[in-house]
Amino acid sequence: MLRTAGRSGRGVGLLRSRGTLGRRIVVIGAGMGGLSAAIRLRAAGCDVTVLEKNPMIGGKLSQLSQDGFRWDTGPSVITMRPVFEDVFHAAGRSLDDYVSLIPVEPMTRYFWPDGIQLDVTADAGRLSAELERRFPGDGDGYRRYLDYAAEIYRVTGPVFIYSDPPRLSSFLRVPMRDWLKADPFRTMSGAIDSFVTAPQLRQLLGRFATYVGGSPYLAPATLNVIAAVELIDGVWYPRGGVYALGEAFRRLAVDSGVDVRTDSDVRRIVIDGGRARGVELADGTMLPADAVVSNVDITTTYRNLLADTPSARKTYKRLARQEPSCSGFVLLLGIDRETPELAHHNVLFSADYRREFDQIFSQHRPADDPTVYIAITSKTDPDHAPAGMENWFVLVNAPALDSSFDWRTHAPAYRDRVLDVIERFGFAVRPHIVSETILTPLDLQTASGAYRGALYGASANSRWATFRRPHNRSGDVPGLYFAGGTTHPGGGVPMVTLSGKAAAGMVLDDLS
Ligand SMILES: Cc1cc2nc3c(=O)[nH]c(=O)nc-3n(C[C@H](O)[C@H](O)[C@H](O)COP(=O)(O)OP(=O)(O)OC[C@H]3O[C@@H](n4cnc5c(N)ncnc54)[C@H](O)[C@@H]3O)c2cc1C
Repeated sequence: MLRTAGRSGRGVGLLRSRGTLGRRIVVIGAGMGGLSAAIRLRAAGCDVTVLEKNPMIGGKLSQLSQDGFRWDTGPSVITMRPVFEDVFHAAGRSLDDYVSLIPVEPMTRYFWPDGIQLDVTADAGRLSAELERRFPGDGDGYRRYLDYAAEIYRVTGPVFIYSDPPRLSSFLRVPMRDWLKADPFRTMSGAIDSFVTAPQLRQLLGRFATYVGGSPYLAPATLNVIAAVELIDGVWYPRGGVYALGEAFRRLAVDSGVDVRTDSDVRRIVIDGGRARGVELADGTMLPADAVVSNVDITTTYRNLLADTPSARKTYKRLARQEPSCSGFVLLLGIDRETPELAHHNVLFSADYRREFDQIFSQHRPADDPTVYIAITSKTDPDHAPAGMENWFVLVNAPALDSSFDWRTHAPAYRDRVLDVIERFGFAVRPHIVSETILTPLDLQTASGAYRGALYGASANSRWATFRRPHNRSGDVPGLYFAGGTTHPGGGVPMVTLSGKAAAGMVLDDLS
């Protein structure tokens, strides 16, 4: 097991101090990062109000019920369990009293166009023996890859994941030999190719780049750390659906005394004397605050909520110039039969992975032969579909929104393309669809405020992306902080939860 730093590091516990007791904090957005920040600030004695524009909390982590089916519409893979335990611990509670996280086995079932199928399990010994049997030499390569990725985690975790945004002094604390272990100069795929030779296994390990919306052919090898987190520590499923984790955060916040208000659209952050003093809602209500934490996509925050602040306009333009991470195209399908060949998480790989990423990131258009991901929570929670049926969440990587592709006209045709892929793998899906919803990058943008529909903020494809990730403390507006997937340490449910912790720590430091 990887040693995670869930309960160590700066800001943990966030003890009440006279300086922060009763201070008023407004958090804009009830995504996981916003709720995480709110819970920690409340634990430190602040009066915290969370304002969420939507009727439900969760942001990108959301759910839909329709025609007797229930789907998670966002995240389906939960890793880094200790990060969530730590939030409950900070509030003096236990995660198990709020949500049941159960291990998913196999973690994922992979399918390739040539008929190969592989179940990936957290039992590394069993998996490497299976790999050795199928791809001689690669069983050992897989084990060495895991050791390598775990070493990256050991080196980068304390600096890039579990602490405040890195500064020059953070780097100086790390010995040079350790920096080389972080492997910043190769690409992810370059490093993977040095461990394993089977194209299938290379594709499988490269897929982890998509967990931060990147391409394995462009992202630095350091991001192989993502594979370590999943393949060594495993994947968790919140009983009842991934949304149950969001609901657990909401209940913990409310039980702790946070005022969580839905249907509360913030129109602007109020700046007075150069400092954030509160927010104004769309209905004109003013809420004063000693500090404001924005959980909204940082580029959207600068564009929409700080539009009247001249110094913020420059920052908006700088943020808007950054290459975005990819978005997603989602089909929520109610299927009127059971598919024993599929597991809870499944990946149907494309024949030419490099071409797929080239189309998404260089040509800015959806891949014509996409890799298709299918999650079926009714495999674990049968009541998510009527008896004998299944709830399919189908996800395909898509480019961030730009003027070259209009989802309003092309979505139906792309839906057909995705169904063609699924049928090519032998799953006759069309005759069995009894309920269907399509979510395009435009929907993701509207629902959560994601700038250009990007799932994880700025792209992780550049070697310097980690260093350019926006800080949790605004450089333009004192009293304003950021929590969420577009700021440090990054996107994905565990990372935004840590982001809330970092932001809360900074608020408390500054107020006290
Ligand atoms: C399809 C999909 C699949 C994903 N799969 C995974 C996965 O398997 N595993 C994983 O770990 N992660 C996954 N992610 C990413 C993960 O969901 C996000 O990184 C994370 O949930 C983002 O949390 P956040 O704190 O940044 O807030 P967000 O979810 O971005 O929430 C921001 C909140 O702010 C609110 N808001 C915006 N503007 C205003 C305003 N003006 N006033 C008030 N409120 C406002 C929004 O309504 C929203 O609720 C996936 C995301 C998507 C969309």
